[in-house]
Amino acid sequence: MSLRPRACVHLGNIVGNWRLYDRLSGPGGAGAVVKANAYGHGTAEVSRALAGAGCSHFFVAYAFEGEMVRRAVGPGPEIYVFGGFMPEDAPLCREAGLTPVLNSLENIDTWLATERSFPFALHVDTGMNRLGLRLDEVGDAQRRLGEHKPMLLLSHFACADDPDSDMNTAQSNSFAEACVQFPGVAISLANTAGHGLRAEMRRGLTRPGLGLYGGGSGPTRPEGLKPGMTLEAPILQVRTGRAGETVGYGASARLEHDTLLATVGLGYGDGFLRSAGNSGFGYLGETCCPIVGRISMDLITLDVSAAVPLAKPGAWVEFIGARADLERQAVAAGTLGYELTTGLGSRVERIYED
Ligand SMILES: *Cc1c(COP(=O)(O)O)cnc(C)c1O
Repeated sequence: MSLRPRACVHLGNIVGNWRLYDRLSGPGGAGAVVKANAYGHGTAEVSRALAGAGCSHFFVAYAFEGEMVRRAVGPGPEIYVFGGFMPEDAPLCREAGLTPVLNSLENIDTWLATERSFPFALHVDTGMNRLGLRLDEVGDAQRRLGEHKPMLLLSHFACADDPDSDMNTAQSNSFAEACVQFPGVAISLANTAGHGLRAEMRRGLTRPGLGLYGGGSGPTRPEGLKPGMTLEAPILQVRTGRAGETVGYGASARLEHDTLLATVGLGYGDGFLRSAGNSGFGYLGETCCPIVGRISMDLITLDVSAAVPLAKPGAWVEFIGARADLERQAVAAGTLGYELTTGLGSRVERIYED
């Protein structure tokens, strides 16, 4: 088998993480957000594993993603589509049994104009100014819908990763006001970070995404999360760079002394961010080896001077995983864990294990 970058996806860890959030949630339980290829981990495989563990509410951004989830989990689980509802979405919602999230009065009118053969959810915007009905539109929405009740009423926190932010309480209160107008309808508010807030913020069905894959940091991160994937790439060549020489495009790194360098088969062509050049790292065994120079399309150069016995062509270097912490790598690349795993491309082979 020839070598290429690979992501071992730990379905057992993802299921364990989901159970953890399910326990942290209130009586409404936890659903699972599996949009964007399950944050890079594989929509079908992750959805199937979670459904097998008892997860019965899935969230995606687009109807086509919802169809992939439906094929993976079979009939039964609810699949919500965050992105709204256009007339073009109706056939897929009908055939795959998807529940569109209506985000505007226009979305509501579009749903009302269908044969109404599939349910809908309503999104109320309480502070993101992104998607969802404005609070002052909720009454109008309720009148237009008449006897048609949403399956779920949802809203989304802007600052859930900051437990001290006043936004959380303000949004929670605004959401409560909107909910009064739809008595008896199930509700959903918290994303991953919301599980670290006060109990009232975790009311209803929760919607963890990032945390299922082991991401997130700061005070809202619970103990015991495990990585959703191990991203590894093979060493292609080992060489000694001499003191005074430079490494890579733009000669951005100059070696202060003779340095053992490993050239690894991973680059921005795989979605590994170029902004990690001269700042990110890879683990060779237990040793953290710094990235030297710029990241190119297919290649990364590491200083492996501290891991000499392991530095051989064909050896695997870990860039995300139990040692190479996702959020630490993300900080080195100037971003968040979300962007690192979500951006991994199709050249990275996905290998699934329980
Ligand atoms: C993506 C998304 C989530 C999941 O957010 P995480 O921070 O990954 O847990 C929840 N709700 C909505 C509306 C989203 O768009």
